[in-house]
Amino acid sequence: MEKNFFLKVVNVKKYFPVSKSFLIKSQKYVKAVDNISFSIRRGGTLGIVGESGSGKTTLARVILRLIEPTSGSVYFDNKNIFDLDKHELRKLRPKMQMIFQDPMASLNPRKKVKQILTQVFKLHTSLSNEEIYDRVLDLLEKVGLSPPELFLDRYPHELSGGQRQRVCIARAIALNPKLLIADEPVSALDVSVRGQIINLLLNIYRERGEDMIYIIISHDIALIKSMCKDTLVMYSGRMVEFGETDSIIKSPLHPYTRMLISAVPIPDPEIARTKKRIPISGEPPSLINPPPGCHFHPRCPYVMERCKVEVPQYFQVEDRLVSCFLYAQY
Ligand code: SF4
Repeated sequence: MEKNFFLKVVNVKKYFPVSKSFLIKSQKYVKAVDNISFSIRRGGTLGIVGESGSGKTTLARVILRLIEPTSGSVYFDNKNIFDLDKHELRKLRPKMQMIFQDPMASLNPRKKVKQILTQVFKLHTSLSNEEIYDRVLDLLEKVGLSPPELFLDRYPHELSGGQRQRVCIARAIALNPKLLIADEPVSALDVSVRGQIINLLLNIYRERGEDMIYIIISHDIALIKSMCKDTLVMYSGRMVEFGETDSIIKSPLHPYTRMLISAVPIPDPEIARTKKRIPISGEPPSLINPPPGCHFHPRCPYVMERCKVEVPQYFQVEDRLVSCFLYAQY
């Protein structure tokens, strides 16, 4: 793999066809991911935020080619992932890993922890059984399952939610991936263990950060702020804002981003009482039949006539890309 590898996503679309009935095929599509482009360099951390149903998880799955794209390109390790055949993709797989939202659903309930982790090495390395055993012990220690011998013979249902997510993280980092995508890694966990898992992910990043690209998908802006240098905001399958996390949080540009940031809970009740908030009004649109023009226009307090018919292109505002006609003069 090239030393200065990067991830470049170009005009990626994922449309799911919708059938009206068993016999009549409709020409309608759910546009889950609609023409998204961005790039991240080695060592970069990207947060993808947006409400449920905005297409975040579909985008991640398409990037890793866990589902086939409708069109576009994803360049990683100087290759277009969408052009690879099954054999080439299998070779690249250890370099691109995903941590899923629900650890219970992503672990085989009939396999013990040692089988789950051993399998990764057996599939992708030529290590001996003894070497694999040592690696599995190291991994369990690294993700905080200590002493590791205690967890080797447990099945997923014999672990707590936090412990299961630690096993998933161990499996994802086993082969030192260059691209790690964590999809809502703490949202299915009890509040009491969320902080521990976030710290674990932060430690992994501190240890390997410069040698890896990290993508965190979340609707939790505080989590994105603590982990990601850049942020991509999605709304209704489209990217609406992209730039540095700090500047997006300090001065969000897109009206939807402003609403999202404004909704972040403030721990200090005094500050919370005095802070002016922009309420998130209305519901996210249907992806089968979204509003024409800017998908956000029925909820936008700044809507103009052109917003109802034209799709806003991306405008560069300092270090930011924003898809909104309010910035058309830039
Ligand atoms: Fe609001 Fe128009 Fe901007 Fe869409 S393009 S966010 S409707 S101002």
